[in-house]
This record gives sequence, C-alpha cells and structure tokens, in this order.
Amino acid sequence: DAPFKRIDGKRASARVLSEVAEQVKQLQQQGAQPGLAVVLIGEDPASQVYVRNKVLRAAEVGIYSLEHKLAADTTQADLLALIDSLNNDPQIHGILVQLPLPEGMDETRVLESINPLKDVDGFHSSNVGGLSQGRKVLTPCTPAGCMRLLHDTCGDLSGLHAVVVGRSNIVGKPMAALLLQANCSVTLVHSRSRDIERLCRDADILVAAVGRPKMIKRDWLKSGAVVIDVGINRIASDSGTRLVGDVDYEDVYDQVAAITPVPGGVGPMTIAMLMQNTLDAARMQLSKGE
Ligand code: NDP
Repeated sequence: DAPFKRIDGKRASARVLSEVAEQVKQLQQQGAQPGLAVVLIGEDPASQVYVRNKVLRAAEVGIYSLEHKLAADTTQADLLALIDSLNNDPQIHGILVQLPLPEGMDETRVLESINPLKDVDGFHSSNVGGLSQGRKVLTPCTPAGCMRLLHDTCGDLSGLHAVVVGRSNIVGKPMAALLLQANCSVTLVHSRSRDIERLCRDADILVAAVGRPKMIKRDWLKSGAVVIDVGINRIASDSGTRLVGDVDYEDVYDQVAAITPVPGGVGPMTIAMLMQNTLDAARMQLSKGE
C-alpha cells in the first residue's frame, strides 16, 4: 500500500483533533471553554458506543461534555424540554441528539427545536438552507470530513467532475452541496438513476454513500479517479464478520489515484469534524455574546 494512494483517515483525523485541541487551549486562555451536550434516548447498543466515543473524544481535546441518557419511554415533551434547557445553557455550545430516535418521536420536530447556532450535526433546516446558499454554517460532520480528505488529497477541486452516489439528508445531499461550493461540477445519483455506471465512469471524484457492500467495481471508474467511500457494511467473513465499504476496494485499487479504506477512512473523520463543529459553534456564540 503506497501511503499516498490509501487515504489515511486515522492520520487525518488525528491532525484535525490536534488542531482543535490547540485552539481550545487558546480559548481557555481567554477564559472560555467549548461545551458539548450529547443526548441519547433508549438502549440501542450501537448508539451507546457512538455516544461514549463522542464524549471521550471531547474530553481528549479539552471540550467540556455532558451525556444526557434518557430512558426509552421518555416522552417527546420531556426531550423537547431538555433541548430547551440546553439551548439556554451558556456553558453548552453544541447539542447533539443521537439518531435514530425511538419509534413514535417526530425526528423533524426534535431536530428543529435545537438552536441552529448549537446544531453541531448541521441537520436544522436553517443550516441546511444556509449550506445550499453557500453561507458559512454548521455542516454535517461526515460530508465535512470527506471534504477535508479530498482537499488533503487533491488540493483545489475547481472544475473537477464529482459524482455522489446516494442522496440522503445526512450524507449525499450535503456532500453534493459542499462539492458545488468547492467549484466542482456535481452529479448526484440514487436508486432511480438510469445508467449509474456510465455516470460514475465520468467522475474525477467519486463519493459513495449507499449502504451496499462492494457495489462499485473497477469498470465503474475511470483511470485515476479519487474515491471516497462512506459506506459501512458488515458482511460475513471466515472469522465471523467484517466491515466493507460501498466500493470494492481490492477490485478498484489499481484503477484509482487514491481511495479511502473501510474501516480507517471516512469513519474516523466524522467524530473529528464534530469536535471542529463544537469549537466553531463556541466561537460563533462567544463572539455574539461580546
Ligand atoms: P441512506 O440509506 O439514508 O441512503 C442511501 C442512498 O443510497 C439513498 O439515497 C438511496 O437512493 C441510494 N441507493 C440505494 N441503493 C442504490 C443503488 N442500487 N444505486 C444507487 N443508489 C442507491 O444511507 P446514508 O446516506 O445514511 O448512509 C450511506 C452509507 O454510509 C451507509 O453504509 C452508512 O452506514 C454509511 N455512513 C457512514 C458514516 C461514517 O461516519 N463513515 C456516517 C453516515 C453513514 P434513494 O434515495 O433513491 O432511495
């Protein structure tokens, strides 16, 4: 594996985290400390791991963090009351409600109740709108992490043709908006697209966010493409199970200029960008309060 070809998300995320830690230290010297509240409702094991990792990582970079664990039978009204109190808590600059919410809760209503300035996931319609207008707003963490890897790998992205496979609100759509903002020509494809392979073959940059193991093969890519694989899929293996992306890494490796592995590519960037967003949110709020 030549290091320049396998895009090392662990190393890139360590760099982001150390930059954030440095800037948090500078804020602390001015008497301020960024604070992050992570809210988890219910007992979903995967969500528990995500939340624990976010809180641990925050502590590592000097961000004050609080975990709010609510029982699975918490009412929506109680959740909204908690968010309201966090919205008004001057020690908290970022609020993250771990998804998915328990059945019966209205996800849109809950996410819209977060103060957009504290919306470190970037899911509030005000931030989504701001992103599509090209304003500087809090941006969803996974696509922001992908952009960071792309800039590290390619430098200026102007004029490149980027194809994004998948149009979810969490990854595909914000990814397309960020690539457009970086002056790419953007094609967004999805399950209803015709002739996806042909569209992908024209990509200078291909971002896969589908959730289908090893869907993208060598003959879908032009020679020298840069591939960002967001997919995380668990498949059966000799030793039990293993994680693979949406791109068939081994199959495409000789065809591409650079590619993110799964795991160890986009995954580690997401949490690093959450810390970056919390720092940015704190800065925005502190400068408004002055
Ligand atoms: P969603 O299921 O919300 O969206 C998947 C998208 O892929 C949809 O837009 C869907 O199209 C499209 N799609 C499905 N099948 C096909 C197909 N055969 N051809 C073309 N497009 C297709 O998933 P997410 O965006 O939330 O996540 C995508 C993947 O990324 C998952 O594997 C997830 O685990 C991973 N992920 C990783 C993160 C990380 O930190 N690395 C963070 C978030 C997600 P349509 O809209 O038409 O249904």
